Amino acid sequence: MCRHLGYIGPTRSVREVITAGEFSLLRQSWDPRDMRGGGTVNADGFGAAWWGPTISRYRSAMPVWSDPALPEMLSKVRSHAILAAVRSATVGMPVERSACAPFVSGHWAFSHNGRIVGWPESVAEAARTLPVVDLLGLEAPTDSAFLWLAVRHALRDNSPEVALMQVTAQIDALAPGSRLNLLLGDGRQLWATTWDHALSTLVDDDRAVVSSEPYDRNHQWKEIPDGHIVTARPGHLIVTPM
Ligand code: GLN
Repeated sequence: MCRHLGYIGPTRSVREVITAGEFSLLRQSWDPRDMRGGGTVNADGFGAAWWGPTISRYRSAMPVWSDPALPEMLSKVRSHAILAAVRSATVGMPVERSACAPFVSGHWAFSHNGRIVGWPESVAEAARTLPVVDLLGLEAPTDSAFLWLAVRHALRDNSPEVALMQVTAQIDALAPGSRLNLLLGDGRQLWATTWDHALSTLVDDDRAVVSSEPYDRNHQWKEIPDGHIVTARPGHLIVTPM
């Protein structure tokens, strides 16, 4: 089950955010501590989105530890808001760049830790409610890309909290047992769900971090219980049961 990380705070390079701490996202790619039985390493690619005047993104199907873009390019890219992910492809899903999070659209970036049980048959009914053209244009034939389409669609008429809760409830009803840790950012705020997977937050007046696993031993990390939705920005953390 992939690992993801959202950061909003003082300007940092994308590389600094990916490598921050003893248990950084980089280390979580080969030595994660809390995968809860969902895979062992996160070596099937990685990606990062960062916000400036517009959103930008880099993704690669290589393990994050071997892509020279990390030291050579992502060390030069700086932002106050970064969303990054390392991937462990679910069995049967393609290992390719287009399947790597984050998925982006407009000012949104999105990532998913987990899997949809019985994909794709289990969620055919949910797909029927989505625009055909969007389904034809699905970025990758994966559960995560589909979830992004469903969330994007829900965001048209709903707040981020409601959109994430609606999609989680709908998919869980159709495919019980699915693991649906979703992470969404707009460059100013982060939203994340815990649905049968790990998530922690580190929020103070200067920064907000939402991460699959704490990346250091800072005692301010807060482990988010299962079945909750988090809204975070510097100086602000709300954790609500779904
Ligand atoms: N199921 C998704 C994929 O294969 C996410 C994988 C994960 O969380 N390990 O891309």
